[in-house]
Amino acid sequence: MNSRLAAVGAKLDAPLLITNLTNVLYLTGFESSNAALLVEPGGEATLYTDFRYIESARAIDGVHVELLKRAIISDLAGKLPSSVQFEADALPYAQWQALAEHSGDLVPARGIVEGVRAIKDEDEVAKLRHACEVADRGLDALTREQWTGRTERELAWRLRELLHEAGADELSFDSIVASGPNGALPHAHPTDRIVERGTLVTVDWGVRIDGYYSDCTRAYSTGDLPDRLREAYDVCLEAQQRACDNIKAGLTGVQADALARDPITDAGFGAEFGHGLGHGVGLEVHETPRLSTESTDTLEVGQAVTIEPGIYIEGLGGVRIEDLGIVRADGVELLTALPKTLTEVS
Ligand code: ZN
Ligand code: ZN
Repeated sequence: MNSRLAAVGAKLDAPLLITNLTNVLYLTGFESSNAALLVEPGGEATLYTDFRYIESARAIDGVHVELLKRAIISDLAGKLPSSVQFEADALPYAQWQALAEHSGDLVPARGIVEGVRAIKDEDEVAKLRHACEVADRGLDALTREQWTGRTERELAWRLRELLHEAGADELSFDSIVASGPNGALPHAHPTDRIVERGTLVTVDWGVRIDGYYSDCTRAYSTGDLPDRLREAYDVCLEAQQRACDNIKAGLTGVQADALARDPITDAGFGAEFGHGLGHGVGLEVHETPRLSTESTDTLEVGQAVTIEPGIYIEGLGGVRIEDLGIVRADGVELLTALPKTLTEVS
């Protein structure tokens, strides 16, 4: 058994049926669209899949492999131990019903694998770092081009090309390019709006390489800004820097969030920062832990987290500044490296 299975096995007091395919991938290296994994306390594991994937499943080291029908979960009914935990966030109700009909105790469990997954080993950190470097290179190339006069959609498409040229396997998500008043929408989709002079353009983008994602945001000016937008940028940057300088292992997600939220609130922009400070990143763009006013997580050494305060002013524009870093005992090591001082694009 590998160290990841051992780590999950050590947390179990009853077998755990894993149906989250990203968790299956993380624990076994097995990538498929139809699989389940039963992990026993101690870490012994059985991998279930159908005929299409059985050959690649049998090549996986350190797990037992069993061939099931295409409807894996129904086929598993009656074959499981008498008491089994299942992933409450990853078992659809209809499948739970099929399983429950012929099974003993089904006990909902949450966050067991995600908690292990949140802590990255150095091989994973290297993959995250590489993804961040490629993402930085792609955006850096875009900042050398003309932005004003082009539409948000054109810039997003050009960024996609540059990211692939830089080495991306795919994008983490559709890039956000939000100019002028569109910058006030945290999850704006690029539109046909032409980027004008004298405003901010927020770009949120990332790439996936070797299964690992990057996530970064920068905002650029296109010339002299309205005073309130300039102030928002300065407040956001100072808050983001404060969080980068002070986040470390042992803080709660709520305390980390407050590092950036307090100065933004003190500057009068509290209502304009309506989302959490950040989230974990790894095999998914959004994973454990959460940094927000509602978080129940505590930061641990080796977690990969984003730090991304934003200020969104309806009708005028907005700014978000986001870095991705690794939580260390005495600080956070940033993997994203593009400058954050307000930079003008042409
Ligand atoms: Zn982002
Ligand atoms: Zn993010």
